[in-house]
Amino acid sequence: MPESYDIIIIGGGVVGCMVARALSRYRLDILLIEKEEDIGAGTTAANTALVHPGYDPPVGSLKAALNVAGNTMWPQLAAELNFSFEQSGDYVVAIGTEELPILDELMERGRRNGVPGMRLLSAEEMRRREPRINPQVSGALFAATGGMCDPFGVTLAAVENAVMNGARILRETAFEDFIISKGEITGIRTSRGDFACRWAVNAAGLHADEVMHKAGERPEFRITPRKGEYLILDRAEMELKSVYFPVPTAVSKGILATATVHGNTILGPTAVDQEDKQDKENTADGLEEVLAGGKKLIPSVDARQVIAVFAGLRAAGNAPCRTPGVDYGHDFIVEVAEKVRGLINLGGIESPGLTASPAIAQRVVELLQDAGETLTVKKDWNPIRPARPRFRHLTHAERQVLIAQDALYGRIICRCENVTEGEIIAELRSPVPARSYDGIKRRTWLGTGRCQGGFDLPRMTELLARELGVPQTEVSKKGGGSEFLRRLTKDAEGAGE
Ligand SMILES: Cc1cc2nc3c(=O)[nH]c(=O)nc-3n(C[C@H](O)[C@H](O)[C@H](O)COP(=O)(O)OP(=O)(O)OC[C@H]3O[C@@H](n4cnc5c(N)ncnc54)[C@H](O)[C@@H]3O)c2cc1C
Repeated sequence: MPESYDIIIIGGGVVGCMVARALSRYRLDILLIEKEEDIGAGTTAANTALVHPGYDPPVGSLKAALNVAGNTMWPQLAAELNFSFEQSGDYVVAIGTEELPILDELMERGRRNGVPGMRLLSAEEMRRREPRINPQVSGALFAATGGMCDPFGVTLAAVENAVMNGARILRETAFEDFIISKGEITGIRTSRGDFACRWAVNAAGLHADEVMHKAGERPEFRITPRKGEYLILDRAEMELKSVYFPVPTAVSKGILATATVHGNTILGPTAVDQEDKQDKENTADGLEEVLAGGKKLIPSVDARQVIAVFAGLRAAGNAPCRTPGVDYGHDFIVEVAEKVRGLINLGGIESPGLTASPAIAQRVVELLQDAGETLTVKKDWNPIRPARPRFRHLTHAERQVLIAQDALYGRIICRCENVTEGEIIAELRSPVPARSYDGIKRRTWLGTGRCQGGFDLPRMTELLARELGVPQTEVSKKGGGSEFLRRLTKDAEGAGE
């Protein structure tokens, strides 16, 4: 008999993890499966990390509704789950008078979408608020509900809270097919065997179309990966105050310059459709476009300030908006399947999917209730997920207290970002523990500074081998196949084993 669950969530990105957290409030047996070595390694790991106000999506679209609803949920979510979130507001900046009318259009769209706290600023006011802005600025739209976060931190916090409340998570477990009996989903087949369930939630991101098709749903639905490339600038060289968008293009919000919760400035993204769902390589053309776009907003940006590059893939779907009269072909799919019973599909969750994720999760709860599920709140449900100490954010006095409690907080492993051995050990023993270098990097921000891991890597391979109880040759960047060391040199043989 396969293990049995009420609900299995396929995909551990921000959407799947938010769904797990929302459902963990009820008396349900929940399993979340993720094919990769860690949660949040798909689109959730590489995006602009912004909580959008909601003036961008077309009026009447599901995207607009879930963006605005999701945005309002973030302050409480951040307070409960203790992740980094700054509601600094955001700006759309018009350069030259010809771009000015677009601000009025965005303002009107935002008003119709129900976005609070928007106002138009003069060029002078914009220059005062961000002295680095292009002096050719002609005006700006300010939206007070814009914010920034650490998307991986959000995802981890949500899934940890789900696990604390009884949900189970299995990583390195790939969905392969549905088990369907008499038009009803009764289980799934995975790379770790079969699991029985009454409901499956398809939150497979870029692969949500393939998962849908396995159930015979929406054969016409297709996800086209749309690549976005970025540059990360050195914190010591450039620090912006907020989030600066250009006026949008036909396909994207354009290349922006933004502060991050970690203090670095990022520039990007491009928007280029491709076939390959794996290809996240940066390109010379893409990075050139990003630099030019960044300079248009902030002319003092310089290629020498760049410390890293990355790219992410938007799961751009071709689902038309279902609201009559709204001509929009890239809307979210958040629905109960029509051809089989027991499946909820979350498809085409491109931007603003991060912002919308808590509202999507809430919609999943409502869809289950509408389908006749009786959801009973657990008496002991705990919405609070405590944060673990981050040494670099502490005062000198707080650091001393922490080190007195545990001397490992006095041993710095990453010098650029001041990450201590105590923090790393805590992440290896947390409710959803890290198991690789990237797992630690995403959780602690180790290796993301100017040296990009050059100093910490040798110490990390030793430390991970010791803590995970494996030889150093098995310590990996991101799971099997990405090991750092092929063999130990003669002198070091046996070290760390
Ligand atoms: C360039 C770019 C910029 C963006 N900027 C923003 C922004 O600033 N603000 C915003 O709100 N949104 C933004 N977005 C959108 C946002 O990042 C996504 O909407 C969000 O991360 C989607 O989350 P997800 O959980 O649906 O997908 P993912 O994070 O991709 O998660 C899906 C998971 O499913 C897993 N999976 C797939 N197939 C299987 C299988 N067969 N078995 C098991 N697991 C499987 C994958 O490994 C993956 O971990 C941006 C996106 C991009 C690419």
